[in-house]
Amino acid sequence: MLSDIDKKMYEWQLNVPGFGERGQEILRNSTALVSRVGGLGGPLAFSLAAAGIGKIILVHGGELREDDLNRQIVMHHDGLGEPRHSQAADTLRRFNPHVEIESVGENITEENVAGLVSKSDIVFSCAPLFEERLLMNREAVAQKKLLVDGAMFNMEGQVLAVRGGETTCLGCLVDSPPEGWQRRFPVIGALSAMIAQISALEGIKMLTGLGSAQTDTLIHVDSLSMDMRKIKVKRNPNCRYCK
Ligand SMILES: [Zn+2]
Repeated sequence: MLSDIDKKMYEWQLNVPGFGERGQEILRNSTALVSRVGGLGGPLAFSLAAAGIGKIILVHGGELREDDLNRQIVMHHDGLGEPRHSQAADTLRRFNPHVEIESVGENITEENVAGLVSKSDIVFSCAPLFEERLLMNREAVAQKKLLVDGAMFNMEGQVLAVRGGETTCLGCLVDSPPEGWQRRFPVIGALSAMIAQISALEGIKMLTGLGSAQTDTLIHVDSLSMDMRKIKVKRNPNCRYCK
């Protein structure tokens, strides 16, 4: 049941047709894993906190650098040199103290991925490296969890929403990390935030049953022309993650 505080805080979205108190109760009882909380995961986690999700597990290693600040909007300039995960947790706790925040000061690895995914209802894959994205994809599929994978490059971005074990997974499209892919890539923070918001909405829709989540679909955005396309994708029968 929603508390009086919930009913006040989320009044604007409780009136969204098809969402209502039931949708809010589902969100309130849901845990999201967000890895990492940079240009993509930061604004995404912000929107999950604004929507009143029950718990967010933030995963991000390392310390804040000057070149992070063109897009990592849950950080603070005076936190340069300080751990990223604790700054993100602090921002979100101050923004919405009714959301439980757990923060982990390391990136997704073979050692931690299964445990972190098992504690979550939905995984938001926001890492720049394919190794991490494919690890989250593997575990989400194996544990039959919801997954939203977002990515961008230059002025284009994409989102893939996955019902683990049921719909097209990231591994159906990309079997292994492409050669030559670098952690650092060209991007303007506003595009990362745009992809974050599409990811947040698809995640909220999958969790609550609002509307129709765009599974088996690659959502592609070209922000130069502002064209958004939905590309139908299919499960790959030879996919080593979901076959
Ligand atoms: Zn697959």
